[in-house]
Amino acid sequence: MKKKPFESMYWLLGDQLDLEHPWFSKVDGNRLFVIAELYQETAYCTQHVQKICAFFLSMENFAKGLRAKGHQVVHLTLDETIAFDNLEALIEAKIVEHSVTQFFYQRPDELRLLNQFRSLRLDGSVLVEEHDSDHFLFPFSEIEKDFAPGKSHRMESFYRRMRKRFGILMNGSEPIGGEWNFDKQNREKFSQSDISQIPNPLIFSNNIEDVLIRLKRNNVQFIGKIPDQLPWPVSRVQALELLEFFCAKCLPNFGRFQDAMATDHDLGWSLYHSRLSFALNSKMLSPLEVIKTALHAYETKKPLISIAQIEGFVRQVLGWREFIRALYWINMPAYKEKNYFKAERKLPGFFWTGETKMACMHRAIDDSLQYSYSHHIHRLMITGNFCLLTGVSPDEVDNWYLGIYIDGIEWAELPNTRGMSQYADGGMVASKPYSASGNYISKMSDYCKNCRYKAKEVTTEEACPFNSLYWRFLEANKDKLAKNPRNALVYSSWYRKKEDERKAILIKADGLVENIERL
Ligand SMILES: Cc1cc2nc3c(=O)[nH]c(=O)nc-3n(C[C@H](O)[C@H](O)[C@H](O)COP(=O)(O)OP(=O)(O)OC[C@H]3O[C@@H](n4cnc5c(N)ncnc54)[C@H](O)[C@@H]3O)c2cc1C
Ligand code: SF4
Repeated sequence: MKKKPFESMYWLLGDQLDLEHPWFSKVDGNRLFVIAELYQETAYCTQHVQKICAFFLSMENFAKGLRAKGHQVVHLTLDETIAFDNLEALIEAKIVEHSVTQFFYQRPDELRLLNQFRSLRLDGSVLVEEHDSDHFLFPFSEIEKDFAPGKSHRMESFYRRMRKRFGILMNGSEPIGGEWNFDKQNREKFSQSDISQIPNPLIFSNNIEDVLIRLKRNNVQFIGKIPDQLPWPVSRVQALELLEFFCAKCLPNFGRFQDAMATDHDLGWSLYHSRLSFALNSKMLSPLEVIKTALHAYETKKPLISIAQIEGFVRQVLGWREFIRALYWINMPAYKEKNYFKAERKLPGFFWTGETKMACMHRAIDDSLQYSYSHHIHRLMITGNFCLLTGVSPDEVDNWYLGIYIDGIEWAELPNTRGMSQYADGGMVASKPYSASGNYISKMSDYCKNCRYKAKEVTTEEACPFNSLYWRFLEANKDKLAKNPRNALVYSSWYRKKEDERKAILIKADGLVENIERL
């Protein structure tokens, strides 16, 4: 008997893996769901092999999950889609193949993909509809009301509004604990005994052999360590397991050590961070369920989990994550062109190998290559800080961050990299650049003790490069930065130095930049 044709096609992207989405609330044999591995998604920048594998495996598991619920699903592998030039060509062909008269897609979180969907050339008889992914807590439709393009916005006021709106950590109209933000209690460094307490990270053992074969067969280029087993969660079950693990083992110290760094290799890469960003960004977990689960842990484990720990975590998911996504949409596509300091340097080669004598940089880059992950402070204050101080082009910096990290999706990556870490937007995200000398790194980590450079020295042969580079950055950009009252103190200490000393520092820094590949 000839199979009954489908009426409608529902297209799913690799970061739209939300089983709770209204699309799946009832089983309807007239609907065909399609999810496809695409070459274009492996090639829009050079990506980490673990990131590609994590997306492809999660998509496969998602398709299986939908089928198990009774939905009609086509999962296309790279072998089946490689002949199509791009997403549009594939969709157009599949609509004809299945003779559907309706086509639905969820609005992508990335402008690149949204433009592709909106440029589909379909027969006029096909109804096309764009639906919300229903993932974020701050509605897309309100972004234009609350945010102005090209203007500075601050996370803190947005965060307070979100706390009130969702009644999270609130006691009526007042914040629980009497403070909105416990950031001041989030700045501890590890002592030796603290380091021995860091929990072993929960990692998974997902088989990636088949995906790797497909990548090889279709000439996909990638970077990073190919693991024997993929450690990242690639199904909702695993994502929920990681969330439970985080609440039990990491949340009790999350806020406390949020800004800290540690050398111990097996534990130091993840510390007390949740590593939930991939599960969140692929939508296997919703931000609200992550927050509610963490709140439940706080409620049931007080005082083991203090207000400073839970507030620190809620601030990341309810505050920063939603804020960053709103800034992306209100400012795109202009944001991608921002280059406030007119930085043009090429990214040094050691970003692709980790081979540098700077112990902190080696550690942050090596973690990234090994795990497709590095925690926030590595991204912001080590690699990001280095690029800022040495004037690496924001395009180069963006491409590296977008490709190397398991959670690298443009809506999250761009405002964090170009905005927060490179200040290339001139202050739309951050009130001042996140620039720091070796002193900060030495205070927040134990890296300097095993480094070839000396954290306290500035102009000597062995001086920590971050020190003179820091002053060089401030001097080179004084026209843009000195009038900011938040920079007044650093500029006054710079100009308190004798002229000869300043000169020597700048000569030292210029020499480092000229020989950047040898650092
Ligand atoms: C230069 C730079 C680039 C970044 N690129 C990305 C990126 O491509 N994708 C991405 O998801 N995050 C990015 N971040 C933000 C942050 O570093 C990562 O979300 C975090 O390190 C992920 O690890 P985790 O899940 O262990 O986070 P945790 O420290 O456990 O934080 C919990 C969650 O809060 C959210 N979160 C925290 N901070 C931010 C933030 N600034 N922006 C958005 N979400 C946040 C994440 O969903 C994260 O999973 C970047 C930060 C910097 C400084
Ligand atoms: S001495 Fe400088 S380069 Fe070395 S680890 Fe410390 S901050 Fe990094």
